[in-house]
Amino acid sequence: MADTRETTPLETACLHCGKPVNREESVCLCCGFPLYITCPSCGGHIFADRTCEKCGHPLTVSCTNKKCEAVQYYKNDVCNICRKKIKVRKK
Ligand SMILES: [Zn+2]
Ligand SMILES: [Zn+2]
Ligand SMILES: [Zn+2]
Repeated sequence: MADTRETTPLETACLHCGKPVNREESVCLCCGFPLYITCPSCGGHIFADRTCEKCGHPLTVSCTNKKCEAVQYYKNDVCNICRKKIKVRKK
């Protein structure tokens, strides 16, 4: 039997520090990272989630360190988990 009740919403985590955040805040209470950003693809003002809620553009990268591969904000130069530099492969 399918349960039609709403499931617990996925916990939204700060893309910068990974701590849980509340969408009602404008910045992460832990690190001050803005929770609402401009999508680099469609230019929309969007919640900083894994993908743009308007155009689906991914806003995360996986750490290029094979032992880590933590998913984080695409603008991070250094992985916030393992502190290794993230190599951007595009271009
Ligand atoms: Zn944060
Ligand atoms: Zn977008
Ligand atoms: Zn890493």
